[in-house]
Amino acid sequence: MIARVITDLALDRIFDYGIPEELEQEIRSGSRVTVPFGHGTREGFVLELAATSPFDKLKQILRLSGDAHIPEKLVDLGKWMAEYYCCSREQAIRSLLPGAVRSGKVKPKLRKYCTIGDEKAVQDFLEANAGKKSFAGRIEILQTLLDAGETAMDDLVHFFNFSASSLATLIKHGLVAVEEREVRRNHAHGRRSVLPGAPLTPTPEQKNALDTVDGMLAGSVERKPILLRGVTNSGKTEVYLQTIAKVLARGKSAIVLVPEISLTPQTVSRFRARFGEGLSILHSGLSDGERFDEWFRILRGEAKIVVGARSALFAPCRDLGLIVVDEEHESSYKQSEAPRYSARDVAVVRGKMEEALVMLGSATPSGESIYNARTGKYHLIELKSQAKNQEPPLVRIIDQRAYGPPEPGRSTFFSPPLIAAVKERLERHEQVILFLNRRGYARVMLCDQCGFEARCPDCSVSYTYSKLRQTLECHFCGGTIAAPEICPQCGDPKIRFSGVGTEKVEAAAHAVFGPARIARMDSDTMRSAEDYEDTLGKFKRGDIDILIGTQMIAKGLHFPDVTLVGIINADASLAMPDFRAEERTFQLLTQVAGRAGRGSVRGEVLIQTSKPENETILCAAEQDFEGFVEYDMEAREVMKYPPFSHLILVHFRGEDDTEVRVFASGFTDDLQRVAGEGVRIQGPFPAPIDRIKGKYRFMTMIFGEKLGVVRRYLRHMVLHGGRPDGVEVYVDVDAQALL
Ligand code: ADP
Ligand code: ZN
Repeated sequence: MIARVITDLALDRIFDYGIPEELEQEIRSGSRVTVPFGHGTREGFVLELAATSPFDKLKQILRLSGDAHIPEKLVDLGKWMAEYYCCSREQAIRSLLPGAVRSGKVKPKLRKYCTIGDEKAVQDFLEANAGKKSFAGRIEILQTLLDAGETAMDDLVHFFNFSASSLATLIKHGLVAVEEREVRRNHAHGRRSVLPGAPLTPTPEQKNALDTVDGMLAGSVERKPILLRGVTNSGKTEVYLQTIAKVLARGKSAIVLVPEISLTPQTVSRFRARFGEGLSILHSGLSDGERFDEWFRILRGEAKIVVGARSALFAPCRDLGLIVVDEEHESSYKQSEAPRYSARDVAVVRGKMEEALVMLGSATPSGESIYNARTGKYHLIELKSQAKNQEPPLVRIIDQRAYGPPEPGRSTFFSPPLIAAVKERLERHEQVILFLNRRGYARVMLCDQCGFEARCPDCSVSYTYSKLRQTLECHFCGGTIAAPEICPQCGDPKIRFSGVGTEKVEAAAHAVFGPARIARMDSDTMRSAEDYEDTLGKFKRGDIDILIGTQMIAKGLHFPDVTLVGIINADASLAMPDFRAEERTFQLLTQVAGRAGRGSVRGEVLIQTSKPENETILCAAEQDFEGFVEYDMEAREVMKYPPFSHLILVHFRGEDDTEVRVFASGFTDDLQRVAGEGVRIQGPFPAPIDRIKGKYRFMTMIFGEKLGVVRRYLRHMVLHGGRPDGVEVYVDVDAQALL
């Protein structure tokens, strides 16, 4: 037997090593090993075992390093990721292990426990020395151990305040026995206790979903990923919880992915309430030690349910039975550094490899998942009504343009109907959320007066404004025009090239709503999970009247006293140079609207927009998902955008504008020759943000139904192809962000 090993050098190269006899039984794919390399040694992972090697005179593996090994099935997943996402095998394998486990620096925490040693000797000692002053300390220790039983050594010293030297003497004479054991680090830090919760009786729609799960588990219904589409409050989480219980009952484990764990404290508590200690919650606040302990707890099968963000997908679960991806449409499932994987898509692959059920849930599934449901790749299950028979909120559109130019002293952010609605809630002591749809990244051209937005006539995406060149550019076709100085539609000179900020809105809210208690929640004000929980806690207790925020407040929060949600500039996210701009806007508006009226009073949502006739805004206001999907899919089908094709983005960067441009052009020309029929290549053109940290950025887009050949070629070129020193190239397969 020989082992094929990758080292910690990201060379995308496999090296063959012999396996010494004493390790034959232990080494398998996924083992972490130390190998001789050049004149020294290196750490590596065994990728596979083979009978023979084409090389003779192999060096031998030196040793296994540490207890951490990657389960074999995960190694296969890593290999698949390296191929599919065009990254090196080292990068892919690295992402399977948390840094704390990979580094080998973190060790299990050991604790010493004391018990009574030789009982007879202890009795003799106590009788012989009763009442003797100089033995008082030792006697007390023995008495404590007799009463309390096993006690941690550091508790004896620090909590009971016994003398360490007395204890040492007792140990030396065998009167106290010591055992050292591994303990779990303090995971409960700062955690509130939760009351246990029992399963709810499923609604008919939930029952239908759970029946399908039963059918798939029993083999009577064809197994494929389930797409659970359910409006907000329809009881999706309850379906996840009961599905997990079914899988656990079969002795299997489950992984639940949530977009961002610090933003979903309420969901996490529900999991805790239902499953208690068998849960491993992987959040960003874990220390390295805690993360290390959790990883081993999962590997040993002590934690059977793992809840976490993207990377929790790689939890080393045994007998994986289920992967749930909540809010499957969220862009945070796509990793922005190599390997640029989509946790949702890799979840489907892992589920297939390990014969685990996969359940993708959302109120507004991605176009890709809807498409997969239509083509029969996924099994669609819908929850159309609310689990608790609540009335959906009343939604009204406010045409921002109807209120003319702002008068002196009047806020441009709040229209009179919105101001009136907020004041009404304040008088009734109800709470308000004001949502600011802050534009993501690109600077686009907008007119506040007429709602005009500069768009490329050929590509149906917004033009991107380049300050550097004073132009509007389409980064899909490269079309460029001079940036106008007045609005081409209404002639207003006050066109703008960027969005508004939450800070300004907060200041305006103070001016308009006077004494109301106002808080702001965005990535500037919320620096830690504590800040976030703190503000949410205040809001929940009613210490805040108006909460102003961005995307951060759109997520699954439940506030029964919020009766009004005001969306300040609903169309901001439409104006992005991205064919997913409509989809993102619809998802966001739906999610925000879902925050209103979760209590006994019917909620109201006011959507302020300068595009009241826009199809996406109208569908969002009517909460018409099907209508939106028809509209959006049609547009994407015409343009052959995903999901009607796959998209790979190639990025080029470098400090020398010309050098990057020339290299990108040559690279793209070569690609064109390899690509063949049915592959559409656009570019290279400047990225929407065309210069970051002194580096010029270009990109090439590749669309096609079958991109296997292109992918293999790209992978080779990016990992092993030549390029000037100053130019970086990377590949984003199934790109979500087009920047
Ligand atoms: P979603 O995840 O789709 O937003 P949830 O599972 O959070 O929906 O359910 C929304 C609300 O309805 C929660 O308060 C939940 O406790 C309640 N709920 C869910 N299922 C049921 C049920 N079968 N019977 C009664 N209440 C339910
Ligand atoms: Zn264009």
